[in-house]
Amino acid sequence: MSDPNSGFDLVILGGGSGGYATALRAAELNLSVALIEKDKVGGTCLHRGCIPTKALLHAGEVADSAREAEQFGVQAKFEGIDMKAVNSYKDGVISRLYKGLQGLIKSRKITYVEGEGRLVAPNAVEVNGQRYVGRNIVLATGSYSKSLPGLEIDGERVITSEHALTLDRVPSSAVILGGGVIGCEFASAWKSFGVDVTIVEALPRLVAAEDEQSSKALERAFRKRGIAFKVGKPFEKVERTDTGVRVAISGGETFEAELLLVAVGRGPSTANCGYEEQGVRMERGFVLTDERLRTNLTNVYAVGDIVPGLQLAHRGFQQGIFVAEEIAGLNPPVIDENGIPRVTYTEPEVASMGLSEAKARETYGDKVEVFTYDLGGNGKSQILKTQGFVKLVRAPEGPVVGLHMVGSRVSELIGEAQLIYNWEAFPAEVAQLIHAHPTQSEALGEAHLALAGKPLHVHG
Ligand SMILES: Cc1cc2nc3c(=O)[nH]c(=O)nc-3n(C[C@H](O)[C@H](O)[C@H](O)COP(=O)(O)OP(=O)(O)OC[C@H]3O[C@@H](n4cnc5c(N)ncnc54)[C@H](O)[C@@H]3O)c2cc1C
Repeated sequence: MSDPNSGFDLVILGGGSGGYATALRAAELNLSVALIEKDKVGGTCLHRGCIPTKALLHAGEVADSAREAEQFGVQAKFEGIDMKAVNSYKDGVISRLYKGLQGLIKSRKITYVEGEGRLVAPNAVEVNGQRYVGRNIVLATGSYSKSLPGLEIDGERVITSEHALTLDRVPSSAVILGGGVIGCEFASAWKSFGVDVTIVEALPRLVAAEDEQSSKALERAFRKRGIAFKVGKPFEKVERTDTGVRVAISGGETFEAELLLVAVGRGPSTANCGYEEQGVRMERGFVLTDERLRTNLTNVYAVGDIVPGLQLAHRGFQQGIFVAEEIAGLNPPVIDENGIPRVTYTEPEVASMGLSEAKARETYGDKVEVFTYDLGGNGKSQILKTQGFVKLVRAPEGPVVGLHMVGSRVSELIGEAQLIYNWEAFPAEVAQLIHAHPTQSEALGEAHLALAGKPLHVHG
């Protein structure tokens, strides 16, 4: 362990996905590391984000399986959700992972500092009156749930995802403000729990960052599941009623519900961290970096949600590994934002890599090739009774530059999709690879066979 005054190779401010990944990789490279965290190592993803939401979604999937058991000839009955038990299952998953992560930090000889840190010099962070000097500083303070101007979060009737994850009951009804990933995931889980859900989204479609065809498929599936949504309708105001809230949207329509979940995006947690005072270049609260994640200050880097771009845990992991290797002089390759997998874990799931069809046409012109393989022709998807597709977008005569998938469990196909995109594979190369039967991965194989000019299970 280094003496804080003599300086560490790295001082990292924030122990979420980005910060702790930087710490683990740097320690592996024999660099001395101080990791400063004011709450719990693991950050948003482990304690208030990815992991708890996916546990709720899985509980929802189990509930749906019980409801739909008869369709598969199984006699079972859905009798309700015991939210206390769901929470204890979810918290059990978090606490096991948290223990494991704490063990990892300890075993790599990282100096873990508990407390709120502040950048007090371009090479130092102060915590509880103690200065931690670093030859390199990594800013990784993450993000928080945003609200809209005039929309007050009270934690009871008007809540954010943090509150939603600790609810001790299943609400009878909810309006969800925001049809992005987080809003749609809560809509999906809550509907499975029996909540009457309405999503309000100002943009013209749900999961608007995705390929339009994926949005349309998710909207169709949500409609079928009885999840109501209004798109292209900005929120106007919320009033408290005797039993909950009344939400008004533009055009005069109102919705009453037990609560309003505000899921309008995540802002960077950079206030009061000393960044501006030390001259870090920032924009709307985000820390600006170059493609090597360097800020304008020498030897000060930033990773994770405070850096403009996709706010995803695995982006934070990859950026953390990158910065540690950069500092160690390994000259790692620059991370391609389009090469970062994107998954919405709704029922059905939406997963994608690379460019949407529209973006590919903007980039490569009209000769872009597109093929959509319907999961109707995929045996495993029939067995699961799921609908959806695998859509490929190919640069003219070139590699596959976009993969878009909708259907139950398609998140598990993103591993192969990211290899295809990041290795700049041509359809004919993937067409040679063998996909086990019956799996959903065959749909990826079939789509590539078709684009390579030798379709197998494709009609007309
Ligand atoms: C509901 C929800 C669901 C999500 N689901 C997914 C998902 O399925 N997959 C996915 O990839 N991503 C998901 N995300 C996004 C993911 O959680 C974030 O992208 C990721 O956590 C960002 O990592 P980070 O290190 O930048 O920030 P954070 O994880 O927010 O960590 C920052 C850390 O810094 C600490 N900190 C802040 N300021 C200070 C200070 N001054 N001193 C000391 N410590 C400080 C905080 O306490 C925090 O622990 C989800 C997010 C939410 C909210």
